[in-house]
Amino acid sequence: LASSLLANYCTELHDDQALKVDKYLHHFQLSDKTLMDLSVRFRREMDRGLSRDTNPTAAVKMLPTFVRSTPDGTEQGEFLALDLGGSNFRVLLVKVMANGKQEVEMENQIYEIPEHIMRGCGSELFDHIADCLANFLEKLGIKDKKLPLGFTFSFPCQQTKLDESVLVYWTKSFRAYGVEGKDVVSLLKKSIQKRGDFDVDILAVINDTVGTMMTCGYDDHHCEIGLIVGTGTNACYMEQMRNLELLDGDEGRMCVNTEWGAFGDDGALEDLRTDVDREIDAGSLNPGKQLFEKMISGLYLGEVVRLILVRMTKEKLLFQGKTSAKLLKTGSFSTSFIYGIDTDKEEEGVERAEEVLRGLGLDPLVEDCIATQRVCQVVSTRSAHLCAAALVAVLRQIRDNKAAEKLRTTIGVDGSVYKNHSEFSRRLHKMVRRLVPDCDVRFLQSQCGSGKGAAMVTAVAYRLAVQHAE
Ligand code: BGC
Ligand code: MG
Repeated sequence: LASSLLANYCTELHDDQALKVDKYLHHFQLSDKTLMDLSVRFRREMDRGLSRDTNPTAAVKMLPTFVRSTPDGTEQGEFLALDLGGSNFRVLLVKVMANGKQEVEMENQIYEIPEHIMRGCGSELFDHIADCLANFLEKLGIKDKKLPLGFTFSFPCQQTKLDESVLVYWTKSFRAYGVEGKDVVSLLKKSIQKRGDFDVDILAVINDTVGTMMTCGYDDHHCEIGLIVGTGTNACYMEQMRNLELLDGDEGRMCVNTEWGAFGDDGALEDLRTDVDREIDAGSLNPGKQLFEKMISGLYLGEVVRLILVRMTKEKLLFQGKTSAKLLKTGSFSTSFIYGIDTDKEEEGVERAEEVLRGLGLDPLVEDCIATQRVCQVVSTRSAHLCAAALVAVLRQIRDNKAAEKLRTTIGVDGSVYKNHSEFSRRLHKMVRRLVPDCDVRFLQSQCGSGKGAAMVTAVAYRLAVQHAE
């Protein structure tokens, strides 16, 4: 009897807290209808980005990538890759074997990029990248080889060919000056030449979404979408050339980098954004930019939770109205806390919440821990559902392009939020399938996708270049 009373009490406590939080966060909970409507809106944004007349004023830029096909398996050779713009900066050496088994061997090394370099002078950033590359080549004893190199540069870029890429603007935690509006290949070449002790052949610059699609495409030929939910968020997909009005030619397909993080930068999301979203934006490095991204990606989710906790405390809904110095500090609630708190093992999640809250100098009651878990759930669910809505627009575009009744497709995925937060991926998959029941969608998690993908794109470019020369 005692234990059943206790169980009853716990359920009631849970329900009470959930109700309290849900009432406070009702604006964060999006109905299927709202998500469907959002998906239709995003599809229109895609059209605006693709059409010649509307592209100049479109928020979602739909950037051509000059990647025209996924690997065919005959690629081979040794390639270098750089991966800049996610949570780590990496240098890789990738050996692609054309032994019919599609085998790939990799060496890779993570290097630090200190904050003063991310936000300092652009030429110093590229000097630093060249230094890391030199260190890597030295360690592997291959400094005298001039290897082909692919550069994964995970920011919005205007490309006119595969090996020229002009940064439109920085996103996430980067803000080095003197780079926006410049070709990053030239900047990197300049820094390498300045050193003068090694040389590389830069063949391709790609976005991390493209790298992810290519890596997954190597293993699964149905893969025609690349998705990132990590520090930032974005997706790319294979589009028909005839729909890419910005480019001549109607034959075949090209990968388009949607840059969906900028959805809403023209005001299109004002009905869904909350005061918390506005506060996040105002305190960011790029106010007014990447508004959709700021509701979804790992750089912001923890901070969204923190701001909600602070507001609820000030309204005496939590911690008996008492905040702490740490809770009031920007960035103190790391996104990774959410992964441990918002889990399907509810009890463990509540315990983790207590641990985190104590770490923030608070003295929480059980109710506070349960409420905090609910806040994490609501914030991360909104993120997964927003992502699903945009993804569904991409799926419908592909399905209409193929005039297929039932689309069978694979989405290559990477990013810290997707990989480390199983509730996030579960909710994303579930909502996508609910919004497009008539598509057979598979999600394939890429292993080290963005870096390896740069090598794959380079390998394809290299194969084509060699074929041309012959
Ligand atoms: C960038 C995209 C990138 C995404 C994921 C965004 O901030 O604008 O180019 O793909 O982050 O890394
Ligand atoms: Mg065209």
